[in-house]
Amino acid sequence: MALTRPGAKMLDAIEIDTPVPGPDDVLVRVLACGVCRTDLHVVFGDLPNPTIPVVPGHEIVGVVDAVGANVSTRAIGERVGVPWLGWCCGICEYCEHQQENLCRRARFTGYQLNGGYADYAVANASFCFPVPAKYDDVHAAPLLCAGLIGYRAYRMTGEARRIGLYGFGAAAHIIAQVAVHERREVYAFVKSGDESAVRFARDVGATWAGYSNEPPPVLLDAAIIFAPVGALVPEALSRVGPAGTVVCAGIHMSDIPSFPYRLLWEERVVRSVANLTRQDAHDFMAVAAEAPLRTHVQTYPLAEANRALGDLRDGRLSGAAVLVP
Ligand SMILES: [Zn+2]
Ligand SMILES: [Zn+2]
Repeated sequence: MALTRPGAKMLDAIEIDTPVPGPDDVLVRVLACGVCRTDLHVVFGDLPNPTIPVVPGHEIVGVVDAVGANVSTRAIGERVGVPWLGWCCGICEYCEHQQENLCRRARFTGYQLNGGYADYAVANASFCFPVPAKYDDVHAAPLLCAGLIGYRAYRMTGEARRIGLYGFGAAAHIIAQVAVHERREVYAFVKSGDESAVRFARDVGATWAGYSNEPPPVLLDAAIIFAPVGALVPEALSRVGPAGTVVCAGIHMSDIPSFPYRLLWEERVVRSVANLTRQDAHDFMAVAAEAPLRTHVQTYPLAEANRALGDLRDGRLSGAAVLVP
């Protein structure tokens, strides 16, 4: 299922030859691929200059079917995950300082590189990693981005005890469980009127769940915004205490409205999180192997990728959508 025109707002089923792995690549037979909000941004043209045509999908769980001549780290038959960061240069200032997520030449799966909305995908072997065995393929898929980049955002909250999560979808439902596992309190903010999201947040361990324009019962230490809504930045700032951090976790957001300086005063911080490093992947998979995370998924046949994207866009999902070839 491929984006064949920039900003086409839908995918087309196309036939392409099974890709041949290069010397540093593996060929992965896709077993499941999660649907991320970033895919919507690619398909709707919010992100500039995708490769055309491009196969979206960067939450790939699959099995290695062939390996390139230089590959010694992965073996045929091994189950691997393929995330958003598909390649980086390795020699720039960012790559040399553990910031490969910011590499100017980085290439991303399902954006510049073909991703997992397909039967097969090719990935650079050093950007694939094993997935904890206790998760089956469809339940593991959301770990690859919602979990992994969600975890990077979560770590930006430092030692915060009371964490607000704005937008309770695929990422928040995983990160809420990580936070509860680490004995922190989660305050979940959902779209006004979405009672099923309130119940969902409570089910996965939120201390409190309410609407995003409501005050939580306590002042928060930090907040993570997963919804692509800029107006939530001043809203979240107004709910965190002095020195509190507000983390914007998405790749795209509507404009942030102006707000009074007093919301930022007292050393409050607003920051974004961009992409992931391979170290994030290793760290989060170790957490996922140890913590009892339950991912909630809704599966779709690959051919119904457009329906999955529509359900994500229109808020009809509870948890994460996953495509199965
Ligand atoms: Zn993603
Ligand atoms: Zn680089």
